[in-house]
Amino acid sequence: MKIYIVGAGPGSPELITVKGMKLLQQADAIFYTDSLVNDELLTYAKEGARIFCTSGMHLKQMVAMMCEEVKNGHIVVRLHTGDPSIYGATMEQIVLLRKEGIDVDIVPGVSSVFAAAAAAQVELTVPNLTQTVILTRAEGRTPVPEKEQLASLAQHHCTIALFLSATLTKKVTAAFLEAGWSEHTPVVVVYKATWPDEKVVRSTVGTLHEDMQRHGIRKHALILAGWALSDRLDESYRSKLYDETFTHGYRKGRE
Ligand code: SAH
Repeated sequence: MKIYIVGAGPGSPELITVKGMKLLQQADAIFYTDSLVNDELLTYAKEGARIFCTSGMHLKQMVAMMCEEVKNGHIVVRLHTGDPSIYGATMEQIVLLRKEGIDVDIVPGVSSVFAAAAAAQVELTVPNLTQTVILTRAEGRTPVPEKEQLASLAQHHCTIALFLSATLTKKVTAAFLEAGWSEHTPVVVVYKATWPDEKVVRSTVGTLHEDMQRHGIRKHALILAGWALSDRLDESYRSKLYDETFTHGYRKGRE
């Protein structure tokens, strides 16, 4: 017995994987978070599929219902926004399901961090600038471990992607400044990436809070920060991959 945990992608129904879509088409029961997952995805469901909205349920309730469906011989899909492995609260479900003798198959999805990068038209790892992206969140009601505080992570001066932090922008700016970032460092906020009402707001570390307020963004936003977000990167940032003098496995470089 198993259930399928499926990444729904960031919003657009075209950004679920083919595998995820096929599972939705076969499912007898679909559990999804109605506040986060685009319900247009449910048009893939077959007629008569049972749909459960989980935003009003607590963990045990939800797991009990999923178990009942599986034990009745049904194909059960648990749809998670973006990729299930990022802030999906999947581990706690998996642990309880395993206790009931139910296994999981996980289908990855397009995380909103990558949908946001696409909307911002940026590369998050720009050669000679940064080769690292940190995916994290600012500390709000959910604690963040001491060693992962934003001001400490930002010491790396790499690209930082912040989930779940749209209401914590004052804290975010303070943390970046504490880590020595200039207040002119570019920040791009993407609200509802790939949804029809997507917004891309170009901001800076210093003006992030005002810019978010001005656009009325308080949730459903990804904050990307670092110099990789600059729209004025010049010719000094070029990769080895396409450098004509660089030899690699697929191409011999010129002297
Ligand atoms: N597993 C999801 C993240 C879930 S946590 C993923 O991989 O994307 C929820 C947070 O994800 C939101 O607070 C927001 O920061 C971000 N998010 C989810 N969908 C988004 C979208 N379409 N556009 C911008 N941010 C989004």
